Amino acid sequence: MSQLKYKRILLKLSGEALAGEGGYGIDPERVHELAQKIKRVRHLDVQVAVVIGAGNIWRGQIGMRHGMDRATADYMGMLATVINALALQDALEQIGCDTRVQTAIEMKAVAEPYIRRRAIRHLEKGRIVILAAGTGNPYFTTDTAAALRAMEIDAEVLIKATKVDAVYDLDPKVNPNARRYEHLTYLDALNMRVGVMDSTALSLCMDNDLPIVVVDLWGESSIERVVLGDDIGTLISS
Ligand code: UDP
Repeated sequence: MSQLKYKRILLKLSGEALAGEGGYGIDPERVHELAQKIKRVRHLDVQVAVVIGAGNIWRGQIGMRHGMDRATADYMGMLATVINALALQDALEQIGCDTRVQTAIEMKAVAEPYIRRRAIRHLEKGRIVILAAGTGNPYFTTDTAAALRAMEIDAEVLIKATKVDAVYDLDPKVNPNARRYEHLTYLDALNMRVGVMDSTALSLCMDNDLPIVVVDLWGESSIERVVLGDDIGTLISS
């Protein structure tokens, strides 16, 4: 088997990854495709933890725009990540992947509570661990949850698998001359206010020297290529 660059990864997926046309809701076929992708990475003998967002169902900002209390709107977002996590767990188990969901907000009838040591133990046993309910706190995002959990479980990289294939200075769909970056320092990314990751998450990664790779989720073998050490997407590091 090829040499692995990363043996334990934290994969950050936006809620949109589960959505069908229009970016809303859960499309079971899409979830199945996503599960197949994750299974292929796991089959390289990589330990895989996943943090999932909820933009396909609810974001705190939607409620705020309509005058909702921020914390309430954010808790709704965190609960929505649990719905996504269960959909992904089901799809993974249907194709034979042993999977555990852990939630940052306790709901024992539905999933295990997040317990760091137990999450690590699951990973060591080859289980895919889906970490849901963000950080458990309002005013944060699931990107920040991904950075936090990656550090806690000693992941070697945070892979932000998204709908763009790299970080650009301008929107490449609108500007054909947009510059594509293969590497950015944390400070560059913070100063550029890159859209792919918020500043809280970036700062946390910078302070703890956790590399981030931004890659196209739906690109051919994109996540496998990252763990095998191919230079694809954008590496954000020191
Ligand atoms: N959220 C939160 N605290 C967290 C993580 C998430 O309050 O630690 C809420 C927040 O309202 C956010 C929503 O959950 O808008 C969904 O998460 P996010 O927007 O990060 O999802 P994504 O964009 O990755 O799909």
